Amino acid sequence: MYVVIEGVDTAGKSTQISALKSKFPEAIFTKEPGGTDLGVKLRTMALGGEAKSNIAEMFLFLADRAEHIVEVIKPNINNTIISDRSVISGIAYATKFPLDEMIDLNKTATSNILPSHVIILELSKNELVSRLSAKENDSIELRGIDYLLNIQNRMKETVKKLNLNHVVIDASLSIEEIENKIEDFLNE
Ligand code: ADP
Ligand code: MG
Repeated sequence: MYVVIEGVDTAGKSTQISALKSKFPEAIFTKEPGGTDLGVKLRTMALGGEAKSNIAEMFLFLADRAEHIVEVIKPNINNTIISDRSVISGIAYATKFPLDEMIDLNKTATSNILPSHVIILELSKNELVSRLSAKENDSIELRGIDYLLNIQNRMKETVKKLNLNHVVIDASLSIEEIENKIEDFLNE
């Protein structure tokens, strides 16, 4: 299984990943961006808002993804891999570009290796506002609530267009309820 947890910032990805760590002690846990040595540098540049060009920013994330596929995903493809974010975020966050163009570029970056299980944690506008206000925000988060809600929609559109096996879970459920829904999906 190549499982990915998706959702905008504060949706509860890290929280669910820690729960999965005790349920899948043998699994490889990773993340995008920043799941490799090169990726750590690219992540700092990309999330720090260093790129003035939207195209440059988009290619930083693509470079991270390409390296992550070669260094982490391919060598472990016969194990269980659980990733905090993935190609889905890569496509969804590139809002300056048409979805279909991003799908093509990301297929190149991933050599067409796509997740077998996609979990999208979906927040309501009210819940998103209240969680973000409790957190110190990075440059992407500062782009605003409507920006993040648009990304959330693009995530759902992306999994449909890529025809990926996925589940959308209401992120305002309790942590335990979400854990159970994830477990059901992975056991299907
Ligand atoms: P992400 O990794 O997606 O940015 P986190 O797991 O860091 O999100 O969670 C963001 C915040 O929301 C944290 O303060 C966390 O404790 C809280 N949180 C996570 N899941 C839930 C939940 N199901 N209900 C209420 N609060 C939650
Ligand atoms: Mg997190």
